[in-house]
Amino acid sequence: MINNVITLASVPIIMAKGAAFYKDFGMGRSTGTLPFQITGNVLRGGLVERAFGLTLRELLFDFGGGSRSGRPIKAVQVGGPLGAYVPESQWDIPLDYEAYAAMGAVVGHGGIVVHDDTANMAKLARYAMAFCALESCGKCTPCRIGSTRGMETIDRIVSDQDHAQHVHLLRDLCDTMLHGSLCAMGGMTPYPVLSALNHYPADFGLQADIAKAA
Ligand code: SF4
Repeated sequence: MINNVITLASVPIIMAKGAAFYKDFGMGRSTGTLPFQITGNVLRGGLVERAFGLTLRELLFDFGGGSRSGRPIKAVQVGGPLGAYVPESQWDIPLDYEAYAAMGAVVGHGGIVVHDDTANMAKLARYAMAFCALESCGKCTPCRIGSTRGMETIDRIVSDQDHAQHVHLLRDLCDTMLHGSLCAMGGMTPYPVLSALNHYPADFGLQADIAKAA
């Protein structure tokens, strides 16, 4: 069995105070605590260990102190480099695995990367595909080929080539990567891509209705 460091670090307190004590932290099926890692364009980055159930807004402002640039925060990538971009309309949803899964995002290992309003979400979506292309081990087609096709398709969308067709193609490709990849590398790349497309269509040069309908 393989356990990560976060799991092993939880063992001493459970042994010392018992499972019921530890379970008392958190909410729903997300019990205990998680050390959130706050970084990116944030005034006070660092590690904050909190019980599941606090909100992203609390992490961003009570602990992070807002953006480092002083500009409004636009998007927050939660869960690691392949986590979804979370817009302000979702910053009051409790941080727990089930609530985030319900909104198409992941808590993952608790990575929080902050972007202010100068961020271009189409560029960040393309970066996710480029990251996947670079890191792909090449074993399965959705990840190995899909990531490169994904970059090309995003390029076509932002360069104003037949929006409806290419948005449809990008969604179809993300669906294939999500369900057809052999591991989380290809399987999670759609999270940052689709969340950027869904929540920030203007950065792709799209009207909101085209981003959704296509
Ligand atoms: S999804 Fe995983 S197994 Fe498939 S090519 Fe990508 S890294 Fe390799």
